[in-house]
Amino acid sequence: MRGETILIVEDEVKIANIIQEYLEDSGFKTVCIENGLDVSDWVQQHPVDLILLDIMLPGKDGLQVCKEVRAFSQVPIIMLTAKVEEIDRILGLELGADDYICKPFSPRELVARVKALLRRSALRMESQKVEDWQMDEERYQVRYQGKTVSLSMVEFAILKLLSASPGRIYSRSNLIGSIYPDNRVVSDRTVDSHIKKLRHKLAEELTQKELIYSVYGVGYKFEFPA
Ligand code: CA
Repeated sequence: MRGETILIVEDEVKIANIIQEYLEDSGFKTVCIENGLDVSDWVQQHPVDLILLDIMLPGKDGLQVCKEVRAFSQVPIIMLTAKVEEIDRILGLELGADDYICKPFSPRELVARVKALLRRSALRMESQKVEDWQMDEERYQVRYQGKTVSLSMVEFAILKLLSASPGRIYSRSNLIGSIYPDNRVVSDRTVDSHIKKLRHKLAEELTQKELIYSVYGVGYKFEFPA
């Protein structure tokens, strides 16, 4: 028995039942919610290891629900969609979904994706625990392996976002959106220049090992040193 709890948010009872059956056969515990309005409250009150989240829901759509949950939780989320044209929006990382599956899907494929994402997220949590990475919100300082570096407010915000999800790729617009919540217009080059300074400070004062990586044509990601 695996024992992880998977929350299935799906209003089509037939589909929810099939998913539930396959997941339980694979050793997972499952909970089903049919209405988008109830999800955030439930997640705040119950431990859950992964959410399968349909987009078309009564009450509140899955995209909104995903954003809401991300405001307080890093629980892995897989979106379910019947519309290919929604994939771009799902992949817009500001939403915070980890993966998506198009309907109709094979239940076996779905179970495989659930397992893969759980594995990824366990590794992510492990690396966060193992490393003694500490961010001091009041002083904009980062401590790592006995060393401390002081950052500007913006550099600190960038590093905080990137390091919260090691390995996850953020586009420049994702970074801008998270760092400047007031929707001000900031160019990609501004982000690049903050990252450049940030990398320089980290290399000078914290560790010689690379922490922030450029992903060609996409953006940036953070990885703890191996
Ligand atoms: Ca639906």
